[in-house]
Order: sequence, then C-alpha cells, then structure tokens
Amino acid sequence: MSVRTRVAIIGAGPAGLLLSHLLDRQGIESVVIDARGREEIETTIRAGILEQGTVEILTETGASDRVRTAGQRHEGIELRFEGEGHRVDFAGTVGRAVWLYPQHEVLKDLVAARLAAGQDLRFHVTAERVEDAGTDRPRIIAKDADGHRVEIEAEVVVGADGSRSVAREAVTGSYGGYFREYPFAWFGILCEAPPSAGELIYSNSPDGFALISQRSPEVQRMYFQCDPDADTGAYSEAQLWDILQSRVPGTTLKEGRIFQRDVLRFRSFVAHEMRRGRVVIVGDAAHTVPPTGAKGMNLAVADVVLLTDALRALLHDGDETLFDAFPDTARERIWKAQHFSWWMTNMLHLQPGAGDFDRLRQIGELRTVVESGAGRAYLAEAYTGWPLDGARLDG
Ligand SMILES: Cc1cc2nc3c(=O)[nH]c(=O)nc-3n(C[C@H](O)[C@H](O)[C@H](O)COP(=O)(O)OP(=O)(O)OC[C@H]3O[C@@H](n4cnc5c(N)ncnc54)[C@H](O)[C@@H]3O)c2cc1C
Repeated sequence: MSVRTRVAIIGAGPAGLLLSHLLDRQGIESVVIDARGREEIETTIRAGILEQGTVEILTETGASDRVRTAGQRHEGIELRFEGEGHRVDFAGTVGRAVWLYPQHEVLKDLVAARLAAGQDLRFHVTAERVEDAGTDRPRIIAKDADGHRVEIEAEVVVGADGSRSVAREAVTGSYGGYFREYPFAWFGILCEAPPSAGELIYSNSPDGFALISQRSPEVQRMYFQCDPDADTGAYSEAQLWDILQSRVPGTTLKEGRIFQRDVLRFRSFVAHEMRRGRVVIVGDAAHTVPPTGAKGMNLAVADVVLLTDALRALLHDGDETLFDAFPDTARERIWKAQHFSWWMTNMLHLQPGAGDFDRLRQIGELRTVVESGAGRAYLAEAYTGWPLDGARLDG
C-alpha cells in the first residue's frame, strides 16, 4: 500500500500526536502510524508531571480540557534531607506551577481529538526504516499487522518514535549521540492507597533516594533508588514498604496493594543530529533524560511546538529559515533540561562508593538550594518549565 501526505509521523506518543494536532490547526495534513494498538497506548503508565507551558498548549489548542478539570495543580515540591522537609514554593517564587496528570490521560485526550478531526491515525503499523532522507520526498517503509508493506511518502518525515527510534538512523547515520549512563535506577511501584502527601517529596536519605508521588486519590506512584539490575520479583510487598518508609523519615506512608512494579534505568542522551534533509527526530527519539526532573514528556512537547512553526513556514510559505534553524534552537532548551535532570539526579541520589566527604558535600548543596532565594528560584523555574515562546522568566 502506498500513501502520500504532507507530513508523515512515526509514533503516536505525546510528540507525534501533539505534532499532528498542531499541524492540523495550521491546515497541514499528516499521517501518524504507531506499532502499538490504541488500548496499549492509552493504558501504559509513564510520566505524570506536566509543566505549565505543556498545560497551556494542551488547553489553548483544544487538545485537552480534562488536564485542568481532572489534573491537580501543584504549586511546589518538598526536598527532604537529614529527616527534615524543605518546601520549594513554585507559585511564590516564580509565579508558576506544574500539573499532575498522567501521560496516558494526555494520550487519551490527543487520540480522541485526532480521531474526532478525521485524522489518518494508523495503529499496529510498524516503521522499519526511513528512506531518501536527502531528497524532498522522504519515505517511511512500514508493515501493518498482517505483515503487508506500507509506504508513506511525504514532504517531511518526523521520527517521534521514542528512545528506540528507527528514524534516528536515517538522521544521525553512524554518529549516534552524547550519552551518559548512571550507576543506579528507580524501582517504581503503583499502589492502591490514598496519597501520603499533598505534593511530591524528593527525599535524599543515607540509604538512597526515594520519591513519593501521586497519581489520583486512589492510586499512588512511588520510587526508590535501586541497582540497575534489580529484580522486580525479589521483594515482598512488606519489604518494599519497609524500604520506602525508611527513606522518608518524618512521613508515615499510607500503604495499599502494590499492583505494578518496574525498574527504570537512568540515561542521558542527546542525538548529534536532529535533522537530515527532510527527516527530523523529536522527543525521546532525539534525547532522553533521567526522570528526576520530570522533563521527558515536556521536552517532547517543546520540540513539537518549535517544529510546528518551522513546518508552517516551510510548507505554507516555502521559507526554510526556521526549519534549518530548528535543531540548534531546540538544542538550547534540550541542554538546559539535560543539565537540570542531571543536577537533580546527582544532588539527590546516593552515589555508589560515596564517602563521608561526598555525603556531607551533597547536604551542603541541598542547603545551598533551599536556604537561598536564588537557589529555590532556579529549581522552581526549571521544574515548572521555561516558557515555550523562549521568553525569559527574569524579564
Ligand atoms: C516510568 C516512566 C516515568 C516517566 N516519568 C516522567 C515524568 O514524570 N515527566 C516527564 O516529563 N517524563 C517522564 N517520562 C518520560 C516520558 O514518558 C517520555 O519522555 C515521553 O513518553 C516521550 O514522548 P515521545 O512521544 O517522544 O516518545 P514515546 O512516548 O516513547 O512514544 C513513541 C511512540 O512511537 C511508537 N513507536 C516506536 N517505534 C515505532 C516504530 N518502529 N514504528 C511505529 N511506531 C513506533 C511507540 O509505540 C510509541 O507509542 C517517564 C518515562 C517513564 C518510562
């Protein structure tokens, strides 16, 4: 089967679906394919924190009202160390906030919006490669669920196909990207319990990091630092609660049935290239961050907002300026988010082999942040997200 469109998008994740939604608003037709089915896409639990700019783009463009009605606005987080909590007040410091609204709910909203608009959105279609990147008619070579070949030819191909992107190879060739692996991971649980805290608690403890996070009034998400090779089946529920509880002294966790466990490895990655000819990669296909700063999905959204402007100028006016500049412009925010995610990770986790000096220095760093207006403001500004229009928060 052969299909022609203006923009062919691999991946119905946050990046791919939002891009197609924003392009549609500019009158630009696109086709989106995803290897997975709708149900799997709409039920896989991943990110939970949306930056203010992400919420604004979703609501102002009509992609989601539910983010404001069903999501919870959080105006701060708590950093806990040496058994004491220190709130970083986002609203009071930078006048901004984040929203707790799970990624799969964002995806439900985006899928519904795309289907209501009559979008060509194809599930169970797997891209195998991207060809002719150097020409002005690049193509996706894919297979549908029955194994039939599908070819999609477009003016621009966008790889929004996540961290195992097949589009990346067409863009970066053999050069790959900048990469950092961390010597620890997160053991994540989902449990049926009421919230143990009103806001997220990021806890640095002598036994390692823990994050107490929420999903809904009935379901909670919590993580503790573990070995990257940890076995999710190696712990009883009672052991998991003991570990979590020991890492947040001062809070009594509300326990409940644990119904999902996973180990999340920590990596930082930025592709050397984000564009080759008429093929572009965005979101996790182009970069990965460790989850500590809650930046992954938000960075995917920021790429797509920028790319929409570039594609509008290219496809409506034939003006290539923004499209040519896209990788460099996007990378400015990507590296800021990389730094923030790396910084939060290193400040909060126990480094294997850390001695007394390292531990005490880390506490000094945490004190520097919470006891300084400038320190709290940097954290608040980065966590709630720099404005998507590039404006500076300090004016
Ligand atoms: C457990 C967990 C917790 C996280 N927490 C946060 C958080 O709190 N805040 C935050 O901002 N980020 C968080 N992240 C990161 C966030 O989920 C990702 O950054 C985000 O999903 C990236 O969106 P994307 O659209 O670029 O890629 P993805 O969401 O990975 O979407 C890619 C899509 O492409 C499809 N695909 C892949 N290959 C092909 C192919 N060959 N053909 C067709 N389709 C294909 C996939 O099926 C998928 O649907 C978390 C991630 C995990 C795993």
